[in-house]
Amino acid sequence: FNDEPAQSAYQGNWTEICPVAALTSRQYRFISRPWDLDRTPSVCPGCSMGCNIQIDARNNRIGRFQSRENPAVDDSWLCDFGRFSFPNFQRQAPERPRIRRDARLEDVSYDEAIAFTVEALKRAGGQAAGWASLADTNEELVLFRRLFREVLRSPHLDHRSAALVDAEPDDMTLSIADIERLDHVVLLGGQEVIDAAPVLHLRLFKSERKGVHVLKVATGETKRALDAIPADAEAVGILATEANKTAAVDLQTKLQRKVKGSVRRLLVTTGPNGRGAKDLGILPHLGPGYVSLNGQAGKGRTEWPGAGLRALYVHESSPLHGFTPSDAESMWLPTLPLLVFHRFKPTALDEMAHVILPGHAFTEKDGTVTNMEGRVQRISRGLDADWVLEDWRVFQQIANGLGADWGYDAVADITAELVRSLPPYGALNRGERVLWSERG
Ligand code: SF4
Repeated sequence: FNDEPAQSAYQGNWTEICPVAALTSRQYRFISRPWDLDRTPSVCPGCSMGCNIQIDARNNRIGRFQSRENPAVDDSWLCDFGRFSFPNFQRQAPERPRIRRDARLEDVSYDEAIAFTVEALKRAGGQAAGWASLADTNEELVLFRRLFREVLRSPHLDHRSAALVDAEPDDMTLSIADIERLDHVVLLGGQEVIDAAPVLHLRLFKSERKGVHVLKVATGETKRALDAIPADAEAVGILATEANKTAAVDLQTKLQRKVKGSVRRLLVTTGPNGRGAKDLGILPHLGPGYVSLNGQAGKGRTEWPGAGLRALYVHESSPLHGFTPSDAESMWLPTLPLLVFHRFKPTALDEMAHVILPGHAFTEKDGTVTNMEGRVQRISRGLDADWVLEDWRVFQQIANGLGADWGYDAVADITAELVRSLPPYGALNRGERVLWSERG
């Protein structure tokens, strides 16, 4: 533009709205005519914003992610990070499960790999830990939690990679769409928040045009926000990443004392279903619905090395949000008697695993995910990988091998149980936000 390269984190939108198709994307150009595409409605796997997408595929290869308008979430925009993340979800050649015997990995059937896993988990029992991906569906998370808490009787569950202040429903009292209806919004951490959920930036632009005062402050500058917002403000919002929760809560408390109106916060979680993982109790010390485990808390991920654990089960659905070992974990993992790696794509963890179970990618699953504000949205299988046993079926077979009697026939059965056991999740049938005030 004007002989200068265009600079924007949202350039993919230009190709989508260009009325004469003069602007095209290099990744998609000449891949397919639009009418030859298989189009599947889903949700972007990039971050916790939960922008709605269409997976456009041809011959079982993803050609592009296109936006699918949801005014409450994305206003039909996608950021370039999310839009062009699709090559991460292209599948390579089919592969079989593998188990390690005599220090060598050998190909086996799912039944053999699951039987091997069951016997090894029996030996570990309550000393097994489980890490679930930020890109797992809610339905997978329900079964993963039940496998650990009810069947193995292990409290050592986590989805996080770092120690964070406890999550709670008050972290999402402000919805994405309501940002436009505020007087003032504080972007605590500035660019850090935008980087964590880029399409939020476009909502802030729109809000500014409507007269909302947007204030970007560093986490150490909360006094500036406190001074800038007048006492007669009617509706104030705070946006921050979950890593900056302490500063956000502190600012909210102080602002609430100063202004006459309401002060709400929205914390940007990590991954397309980090919020669902918190809601459903993939945490060492909280159960579904943020209930305390009352003395039955386990160890969180950062405490696992050196905690005397005998097994680790890692479930990973997306290369964008994988299990990257810390230095301490890199020393600890090779000492474990059992490492089960249930994943979409190979990583360095394959080299240490005793069992490798091929799993489906985010783009190959049916189910639901929950975005940062608590909106439960459906994702759908955009690609077929029929040689891969569905991840929830693997959890069920392992649980039943350990003595459970689960009888789910389809993802919909698990969704129905989720709604029954956690009534606020009834929101998923309406595409709405989970309202935790309905608890109890
Ligand atoms: S903001 Fe997040 S969910 Fe939306 S398109 Fe970008 S990466 Fe995907």
